[in-house]
Amino acid sequence: MVFPAGISSTDRFDLRIDAQWVLPVEPAGILKAHTLLVRDGTIAGLHPTAELPPDLEAARHVRLMAHVLMPGLVNAHTHAAMTLFRGLADDTHLEAWLQEHVWPREAAHVAPGFVYDGTLLAAAEMLRGGTTCCSDMYFFPDDAARAFDQAGLRALVGMPVLDFPTSYAGDADAYLKRGFEARDLWRQHPRLRFALAPHAPYTVGDDTFSRIAVFANQLDVPIHTHVHETAKEVEESLARFGERPLERLRRLGIGGPELIAVHAVHLQPEDIEILARAQANAVHCPSSNLKLASGIAPVAALRKAGVNVALGTDGAASNNRLDMFEEMRLGALLAKARSGDAAELAAHDVLRMATLDGARALGLERQIGSLEIGKRADVIAVSLEDLDSLPCYDPTSHLVYVCSRRDVSHVWTDGECRIQDRQLVHLDAAELARNAGSWQERIQQ
Ligand SMILES: [Zn+2]
Repeated sequence: MVFPAGISSTDRFDLRIDAQWVLPVEPAGILKAHTLLVRDGTIAGLHPTAELPPDLEAARHVRLMAHVLMPGLVNAHTHAAMTLFRGLADDTHLEAWLQEHVWPREAAHVAPGFVYDGTLLAAAEMLRGGTTCCSDMYFFPDDAARAFDQAGLRALVGMPVLDFPTSYAGDADAYLKRGFEARDLWRQHPRLRFALAPHAPYTVGDDTFSRIAVFANQLDVPIHTHVHETAKEVEESLARFGERPLERLRRLGIGGPELIAVHAVHLQPEDIEILARAQANAVHCPSSNLKLASGIAPVAALRKAGVNVALGTDGAASNNRLDMFEEMRLGALLAKARSGDAAELAAHDVLRMATLDGARALGLERQIGSLEIGKRADVIAVSLEDLDSLPCYDPTSHLVYVCSRRDVSHVWTDGECRIQDRQLVHLDAAELARNAGSWQERIQQ
């Protein structure tokens, strides 16, 4: 017998999730009492539960009767391994933070083991908080990739490039060579993609940016870079090059849909125009921008101009959480305050920024970012049964203004359960804690 959903009781699925509410993101709106069906890691159906055969079988059947099911969150900018520097130097402005605290510690400690352990800790934190995909930028991307693979997180792994030597590479040639070697090693991985990740306009010279533009074009990979983060960065660019950073990047061939422009805080209308014309992407990192006193990005103006704006946490050294629920709430509140319009960045808009718009920024919008048939089953469940969440008139607004990452009960990537009843399924939490403690001892010395 075929039921209204077009599914017969003899159809077989790997996973069936019945949920009180489903927020597919695309189309907008919330569905009540629906069931998501997964086969081979792909979303195979989304139907009213009542229209399915009651005896429809799946290898696993999860019932979430006080939860919202939604796409996994996309953290469009982080430095995962820097979780090992969490809280190391707070209440300091960006230049001093980098020059006096971060860079000397990186010189002393950053090596493959540090990156693997730090990235694994970050991946566990992100999964527990409902993030299923991140765009990462750090040294030793091969070791970051190993950790993402181990954790089951999806990632756009940055191939870092700077024009000064570090423990990872001596010059731009060496950075690029090591990055491409890592990319080649992981080329067939189902959840890992690579991006060119020049650090910032103040650490990368013209020649290197030009070469990166050529590589990005030839290989069709995104360019993930910090840009227009502080007023000082823009002033120094004007003094040194006679151009604002985005103007300079455009002259050097960087300024198309491949550009993931992180921060984009200090923007004039002409900068916004450059991003909009290029169909480039901006990543808003509200906590990091506030904590380092960089400023508040003009998110409403960017969106109005047609720029795709994603959300990111930045690294745990400058946030200090990899918590996309925090970024959603803060992003929505700041957009209202900065624009003077309480209707700006409504709950659904900010949920879309944290999912589908993030996926689009990373070039993954065909694979993830919404609960649409044919997309990969990167899905999270958020519980609304906590006393602090009651009553609930509008689950969409609750997700942004009420819920926290502690309400994430289940997480799947590619249909594989990574978090069940708030617990890590594949990773050993006790071992992660032991490793974090042993790094703390070494870094504190
Ligand atoms: Zn950053």
